[in-house]
Amino acid sequence: MNPGVTRIRFHGRGGQGMKTASRIVGTATAMDGHNAQDSPVYGAERRGAPMSAYVRIADGPIFERGFIPSPDIVVVADDTLLDDPTARPLAGLRPTGVLLISTTHPVDAVRSRTRHAGAIVATDFLSLALSAGAGPISVSTALAAAVAHVLGLPERTVAEAIRTELGAAHVSAAGIDRSVELAARVREAAPVVSLPVASVDRPIVPGVKLTEVTYLSPEAGTASIGVEANTTRRRTGTWRVFRPVIDLARCTRCWICFVRCPDGAIALDADDTPRIDDDVCKGCLICVEECPTGAITSTREVRPWHDAELVT
Ligand code: SF4
Ligand code: SF4
Repeated sequence: MNPGVTRIRFHGRGGQGMKTASRIVGTATAMDGHNAQDSPVYGAERRGAPMSAYVRIADGPIFERGFIPSPDIVVVADDTLLDDPTARPLAGLRPTGVLLISTTHPVDAVRSRTRHAGAIVATDFLSLALSAGAGPISVSTALAAAVAHVLGLPERTVAEAIRTELGAAHVSAAGIDRSVELAARVREAAPVVSLPVASVDRPIVPGVKLTEVTYLSPEAGTASIGVEANTTRRRTGTWRVFRPVIDLARCTRCWICFVRCPDGAIALDADDTPRIDDDVCKGCLICVEECPTGAITSTREVRPWHDAELVT
């Protein structure tokens, strides 16, 4: 796992704006000069259904992707999610992590209910949003502002991120102003809990892989059609005009090329090193585009002619 990454997991219900909250935090972090990655995950798209969103922050490159199983900060937009077996917002939260929850219950009650040993910020963020005249969905802005406060991001930067993200969501100018005002109120109301950006430097579970990727030959997913050009024996390596070349010194073993190759031409060795099967690689160069470290480049394919007669 990437060292030096702060991981934040947002939990909410469809319609509570947790995707927007994650975007505001990610954008504010990037505006403050750090690297940020944010991504929401929806189940069935319907209002009220549990959803989650993820933000990773670091001062160096971020190679991880997707779901965050062991967050440093968990944000809960609605305390009914604590009892929802499909949401499980506390799952994997580090014992020293921060739980930030919108609830009408006091911190002691939240601690005894959740048994979380780390810092807890339990505030009625929904009432703060309503009293600011910003509407119920603005609980998202309130929670984003609270997370930004925990991370130590400057107030002006957070306000700029709110304007950027709510503007992109076509919120009216008056609505954006109310949200910026709400963020200022949150900074005054939220208890001081600090987990500065990139202060976290631990592997998720030392020595344990989160996932095991298995490799199947590309033929396993190929239909066996009885036409010569479409059989599994058609070696698409002959289509190649440009050849991808991996510089293993720059490869971080993120496996993105392995996942994205449309023909399954990239396999992983026992040590997770990607290898390209020249018989199958058709030279589409998607892997060159997708590799986040620039470890894959392309070179012109030049083949010698063989002696066999041309088929005419
Ligand atoms: S070559 Fe690039 S995309 Fe493939 S595993 Fe290495 S770093 Fe990741
Ligand atoms: S060039 Fe295309 S087919 Fe070849 S390994 Fe890269 S993604 Fe796969």
